[in-house]
Amino acid sequence: MTNKIQGIHHITAIAGSAQRNHDFYTKVLGLRMVKKTVNFDDPGTYHFYYGNETGMPGTILTFFPWEGIVGGRTGTGMATEIGYSVPKDSLEYWVNRFKESGVKQGEISERFGELYLPFQDPDGLKLELIASKYGDDRQPWVGGGVPGEAATKGFHSVTLTLRSIKPTATILTDVFGYELKEQDGGRYRYVTDAVPTASIVDLVEAPDEARGHQGGGTNHHVAFRVPNEDVQMEYREKLLKMGTNITPKINRDYFYSLYFREPGGVLFEIATDNPGFTVDEPLNELGTNLKLPVQYEARRADIEKGLPKLKI
Ligand code: ZN
Repeated sequence: MTNKIQGIHHITAIAGSAQRNHDFYTKVLGLRMVKKTVNFDDPGTYHFYYGNETGMPGTILTFFPWEGIVGGRTGTGMATEIGYSVPKDSLEYWVNRFKESGVKQGEISERFGELYLPFQDPDGLKLELIASKYGDDRQPWVGGGVPGEAATKGFHSVTLTLRSIKPTATILTDVFGYELKEQDGGRYRYVTDAVPTASIVDLVEAPDEARGHQGGGTNHHVAFRVPNEDVQMEYREKLLKMGTNITPKINRDYFYSLYFREPGGVLFEIATDNPGFTVDEPLNELGTNLKLPVQYEARRADIEKGLPKLKI
């Protein structure tokens, strides 16, 4: 297939309190909320999208915040770490910023020749800031109080933890166009050359680790990026031919989606660049209005009443 997957499109995780989630990602991590909408399958729940200024694919982290949800447990069959790319020499800035904000963080460490700082969000979701050795010319969002010399540029990588990496690796290499580039112990680094950033998936083989259990502070799915619906349908055909159980195309208003569970247990999505977040809000207002898909517009008053109030 000539149209390789263009790296990560977005990653979606589960949170508890909407306010706490909003404050952490916009005020501590300094991301821009690029869309405030509801879970299209459960409009009593928000769906928040955080990214860079435009919400470029490869920068988008999204959450379903369920107030009072029981915490999940990370383990095999799920995405276990989300890696953000940050400028070289910015990790000390982040150590201090996290200290001041009471963020749970680990030690700066090195992996595959890159320094990284592991930390957790208030729900216990595991993330990392990684000083990329690959270079990263994406423009960071600096409206969230983090200066450009330190601000996150979007995803560096995502880590999937698996009982056995082989079936998942085959999807990455034979279907998506990734290649195994590096290995260290049980960690295998797959990279696509289709894009310069958000191009890495690390597979960690942990045969003795228990299966993860989804809940607050765990990842829900990982979406991979395609330029448009034509390419998306080529992937659907290819996966169907392999006997994969895959959904039809679903309209998510800001992109079109396909979902399938890869053989290692992680929910994968294939999402399009089109139409993007400015389809229903101008760039300078992204994330400021509660946007509803058309099927819920008639129930707007009730839906707004049922959602937790958010102090911005
Ligand atoms: Zn998604």
